[in-house]
Order: sequence, then structure tokens, then C-alpha cells
Amino acid sequence: MAKRDYYEVLGLAKGASEDEIKKAYRKLAVKYHPDKNPDDDSAAEKFRECTEAYEILKDAKKRQQYDQFGHAAFDQGGGFGGGGFGGGGFGGFDLNDALRSFMGDFGGDSFFGDIFGTGRRRGGGRSQGTPGSNLQIKLPLTYQEIHDGCKKTLKVRHKATCGTCSGTGSKSGKPENCSHCGGSGRVRKVANSIFGQVMQEAVCPACQGEGRMVKDPCSDCGGSGRTIAQDTVTVEIPAGVAEGNYITVQGKGDAGLHGGPSGDLLVVISEIEHEIFERHGIDVVTEMEITFSEAALGCEKTIETFSGKIKLKVNAGTQSGKVLKVGGKGFPVLNHAGHKGDLLIKVQVVTPLKLSKDERSLFEKLGELEEKPKNLFEKMKSMFS
Ligand SMILES: [Zn+2]
Ligand SMILES: [Zn+2]
Repeated sequence: MAKRDYYEVLGLAKGASEDEIKKAYRKLAVKYHPDKNPDDDSAAEKFRECTEAYEILKDAKKRQQYDQFGHAAFDQGGGFGGGGFGGGGFGGFDLNDALRSFMGDFGGDSFFGDIFGTGRRRGGGRSQGTPGSNLQIKLPLTYQEIHDGCKKTLKVRHKATCGTCSGTGSKSGKPENCSHCGGSGRVRKVANSIFGQVMQEAVCPACQGEGRMVKDPCSDCGGSGRTIAQDTVTVEIPAGVAEGNYITVQGKGDAGLHGGPSGDLLVVISEIEHEIFERHGIDVVTEMEITFSEAALGCEKTIETFSGKIKLKVNAGTQSGKVLKVGGKGFPVLNHAGHKGDLLIKVQVVTPLKLSKDERSLFEKLGELEEKPKNLFEKMKSMFS
């Protein structure tokens, strides 16, 4: 199938501004994101396609190449292959790559922050009382917990409705209507304007709009109607969350006043660093040390992953710095348990600091046998001879 023009994919003209490109991509990516279209392959393909287009067009250098040469600029072998971490050409930009790029571009902002999308719209329609505030709590998670998903019970201190006075703030349980405004919470006053005198409505200064006055304050809450309480909240964390994602627990923030709704609790994920693993989006990066002989002869190593130990084959002749990839041993893609990132292992060949007598004599023998790498001067000489 012929590849569609990147500008066409994003619905833009060739001279579109950076801002227009970003906006167009955001709109499409949100619309077709697999989280919103589970089991819809055509949406997934559209998501992949627009992400690929965005990855090229957002980068001034790549965009210029594309404008000049079209898709040919990024064909495999076309000079854009990177190798190593996060490189790779654009020849095979698949859905995993797209999800990875998307997370890299937008994962940290609140765009998709609320991973369940349960954020409640508040204050639509005037309800009674004053709504309680939202609270935020930070939840540190280990990589293992992020990989597996987990359940956490949190202790939350918040303002709760006072049990003694049932939130009325009054000892008798019957606050009186404000004498200043008669209970409406609003007062009218005459003001001068360019049209002459007009009636204006304002919040009652005596009761701050509450419409009531507490003449016999409750001894437990001092008349505020709320006391500080500690509650436990259990949250289910899905596998694959990232720093800054949050989960909304409805009604677990501060209690409202006088019949107002309670605020929400926002549980914000924070990642605990790992000793040996580093997170790169959905991929996990680590290093592995091997000896000279293991590098030269090849070996089999047992390594830790988040889903248990695995055996890893290191080929004979492996160079220091080579990155070995174990597919599917990275982090799961949030809300897509089937998709997982990769484990990338950077091989480090260790030069021995101290040699035993036996080792020394073996190395000396080896030194006599082995072919020395040519230095640059010799290489040039042989080029011209
Ligand atoms: Zn009043
Ligand atoms: Zn009270």
C-alpha cells in the first residue's frame, strides 16, 4: 500500500506552522488512541500513521528532508538508522513505536494524566452549600509495582463532616438564618453607574454567602462544621502507569460544607528509581558486565527481569557497548496488557584490574598468538599500496 503524505495524514497544508502541526496531531492522536478505541484495528492504524507523521514533521531537520525527498528520505538504509538506544530508522514504525513516541511527547502532561478519565465536572448547576476542596497525594511506586500493577491502601488526612453537629457547626444542630441577609446569602445595594442608579446583588458580607449564622458553636469543630480526620482509601493501580499519571478517587477529598459535595482525592504516581534498571518509556534499560573470554567465546547469562529470571545468550565475538534486546520484557503499555516494551541490555566487557600468575602467563601467550588491530597509519598505508 502506498504511504500517505504526512501533511495529508494530519490534514494540513505543506507550509503548516509548528503549532498547527502539534495541534492537528494532538486532536487526531486523542481521537484514535487505542485507549479510547479498544479492539479497533483501523483506529490503531490511524493512530500509528498520524504519530509517524508527527514524529517527522515536528523535527525541523527531518521535516526538511521529507519536504525535499518525500518518504524516500526515511526508507530503510536511507541514512536515518540510528542503532543503539532509541534509534532505528522509520522503515518499520509500528504501533508500539507510536505508543512510545506518544508517551514521550505527551506522557508527562495532564493530557492523559487521569488514566481512568473519571475526573468529575464540578460546579455545573448551583447546588446547595460549599463544595469541599480536591486533595492531592503522592504515591511512590517501585518499577516492579508499575510492571505488575498493584493495590495500595493509603492513609489520607482530610476535612470530614463533624459528627457531633452533623456539619451544621451549631451545638443545637440548628444554625439560624443570617439576620443581615435573611438567609439568602445575597444582599442588594444601590450603585451609581453611567446609566444612573442601579440595583446590584452581592455576597452577604455578614455570612459570606452561607445564609446562616452559628450562635452556639459546636465544641468539636468550633462552628466550622468540619474536623480533621484520617481515612483509609484503597486504590487499584493498573500496570504501566508513569510518573505524573493520577487516579481520581471521587468524594475522598475534603467534605463539603452545609450539604455541598465532597472534593476528590487525586492519587499522583511517582516512580522510585531502581538500582539497575532505568525506564525509557515502556522500555527497560540495564547494563551487564562480561569478561574477555566470555565476550570472545560467547556465553549464556542468567539475568533478572520484572517477570522473573531469564537466560540470555551472548554470541561469540560480542563487542563492548553492544545492546542486546529482549522483546516483551519491558513495561506493559497502560490499559493494553498485551503490549509490552523491550528490555535493552548494554554489554560491558570488563578489563581485569589484577591478574593472577596463571592468568598473566595465559594472556602473554594469547598476546603472542592474536592478530593485532591495525592502527590508522597502517590502515592508510594498505589502502594506497
Ligand atoms: Zn447573610
Ligand atoms: Zn461540630
